[in-house]
Amino acid sequence: MGKHKDSNSELSNISKKELVSRARKFSERYCIGDGKNFRLKDFDTEDKSDQFNADKSQMQETLQLGVEVLAAMQDKLYAQDKWSLLLIFQAMDAAGKDGAIKHVMSGVNPQGCQVYSFKAPNAEELDHDYLWRCMKNLPERGRIGIFNRSYYEEVLVVRVHEQILKSQRIPPALITKDIWADRMKDIRHFEDYLYRNGTLVVKFFLNVSNNEQKKRFIERIDNPDKNWKFNAADAHEREFWDVYMNAYEDMITNTSTVKSPWYVVPADNKSFARLIVAAAIINALDSLNLEYPKVSAEKIAELIKLKQELLAEK
Ligand code: ATP
Ligand code: MG
Repeated sequence: MGKHKDSNSELSNISKKELVSRARKFSERYCIGDGKNFRLKDFDTEDKSDQFNADKSQMQETLQLGVEVLAAMQDKLYAQDKWSLLLIFQAMDAAGKDGAIKHVMSGVNPQGCQVYSFKAPNAEELDHDYLWRCMKNLPERGRIGIFNRSYYEEVLVVRVHEQILKSQRIPPALITKDIWADRMKDIRHFEDYLYRNGTLVVKFFLNVSNNEQKKRFIERIDNPDKNWKFNAADAHEREFWDVYMNAYEDMITNTSTVKSPWYVVPADNKSFARLIVAAAIINALDSLNLEYPKVSAEKIAELIKLKQELLAEK
């Protein structure tokens, strides 16, 4: 990438290579890798690193650059048509999943991107195993797929509310005390399987604090334009906050791997969270060593000939 046009700051002079390297270093701090010994309480819901010193414009500019780099990388992913990238977003309500997806993906070509939001399963979906509906919506080669919620709900909401498990009509003999550990093992294997078939899976937990969630719910009530987003059931779900946090911790411990890591994103500051997500996606795409397909010498000769013919047209 050349120099960035509309800015005077230091950022405008950074090469694409340097940006990618900064994105890697920046996102690594929030990457869990192998989940062994993971403790959620070691991770803040707000950024304490003082990285941007509350400089909003610098943060916006960095995000804008990140979005441009990401779009250029997606173009190569699409042209190469071999790898696909699956981004999974999980969070408590009002943590900012929708906004993060909207902003971070704002620059990418819609043709190369597929978003899918998972709600409570319908009757047809409940007639199958829980991965079935996810399998059907995996990204095609060359695409970025986004799961807004995912099969991870099966070890989150279903674990917190065991009556949901009962409604799944699994043979009772299979519902044992090991069911959650077994599900996490199956998910790990499923993601290994996807990787071995050319789909890289990267997972984001947007880590919002209990207090910030309360604030955002109140805002949804106070602001008429946000009323549609408010759901009374979401507020009641706050009673289960600690149970959810334990489920998240266990899930990340057991399903974060070096190849398919969880990122624990401090989500109390939306702009900062988006920056981390963008950086992590750039990092993931960079790991795929993407390149435009090489064109053979014969093909180039053919193109030159065609150009001459076009120019010679009367
Ligand atoms: P928003 O932030 O806009 O509320 P959302 O992702 O919460 O977005 P909703 O339609 O409010 O979307 O909620 C989807 C609901 O579906 C969540 O409460 C989630 O827990 C539930 N859900 C998703 N997957 C499952 C599942 N496998 N079993 C049961 N419930 C599920
Ligand atoms: Mg909701």
